[in-house]
Amino acid sequence: MKPNARITFQRVPQGLPVVEDFGADVAEVPTAGEGQFLSKTLYLSLDPYYRNVMKGSQIYADRLRAGDVMVGETVAKVIESRHPQFQPGDFVAVRNGWQEYALSDGQGVRKVDANLAPVSTALGVLGMPGLTGYAGTVFLAQPLPGQTFVVSAATGPVGSTAGQVARHMGARVVGIAGSDDKCEFAVRELGFDACINYKREDLASALKEACPRGIDAYFDNVGGSTLEAVLGRLALGARIVLCGMIGAYSMDQMPHGPWLGPVVGARATMKGLVVYDHMDKMAEMTRVLSGWIAAGSFRYREDISEGLASAPEAFCRLMRGENFGKALVRVGA
Ligand code: NAP
Repeated sequence: MKPNARITFQRVPQGLPVVEDFGADVAEVPTAGEGQFLSKTLYLSLDPYYRNVMKGSQIYADRLRAGDVMVGETVAKVIESRHPQFQPGDFVAVRNGWQEYALSDGQGVRKVDANLAPVSTALGVLGMPGLTGYAGTVFLAQPLPGQTFVVSAATGPVGSTAGQVARHMGARVVGIAGSDDKCEFAVRELGFDACINYKREDLASALKEACPRGIDAYFDNVGGSTLEAVLGRLALGARIVLCGMIGAYSMDQMPHGPWLGPVVGARATMKGLVVYDHMDKMAEMTRVLSGWIAAGSFRYREDISEGLASAPEAFCRLMRGENFGKALVRVGA
């Protein structure tokens, strides 16, 4: 038997996830049937929303029972195919989940062009997180040249894309991130005008200093007290893109929302962002961002753990906010 190592869902986490919430087993590598292909996972994407899937959130199509293979996006190489559109050797972005091999019928699968950038980027800046940052900035936040654009979780794949797209649109970009190293990276590598370490500085006063004319657009990846502090500095007509609330995903009780009075005073607009509404822009985003990557005017960072067995601990690190860059697991060579 050819072994297929898998990481399974074990139980719903209480608060922050721990490695005991996951299990592991070994199955036999399946064989492709008519209309299917078999692929070998190269990279597994770790995304904050998996925590919501683990608690059975109804807004996702995925349902997990104890013993099921953990769900997730991967970049994989086709090794056997009985599907007319996929050939052995093709790189694909496919939802293989947390396992070394999986079958697919081609539904929702994207081919990955290895000439554009390293294939791992199809899970980060050239994939779903990149599209989130791109679409939320270009179509919802719409910063004008010279306006102040603020983004939280600034060095993650969504935040770093949003901020760099806003910079390319001519905005003044201020990041919010959780360490001095992350802030230094945001300014030096990503080209942000400033970055605030919210763990070291008082966010409200630091925002006042960094955004003297107020905040015209805010791309919110975290919610909670960060959103509350930003709302206190809104410029007239500000746009707020509500993208994610990572801090709340591991809470058993939903937190009370921030005070929204300043939204009224600033005549601001708050818009909810769901990346799947913008899938038709994937090709546009890939063309624009890969062009900037090739020209050296767009940077990205990856936080890669080695081996499938490291996935549970790497996911727990992500949910504790300890990743620095797009969280990935290198599963295969
Ligand atoms: P990411 O930025 O790598 O997410 C992890 C980072 O979040 C951490 O490194 C940490 O950075 C920050 N963070 C802030 N408060 C945190 C807390 N209380 N606990 C843990 N981490 C915290 O991941 P991403 O993939 O780019 O996602 C960013 C956000 O976008 C997430 O909220 C995600 O759910 C959301 N999202 C939404 C959509 C959509 O369609 N709306 C699509 C994709 C992603 P710092 O140390 O810098 O704070």
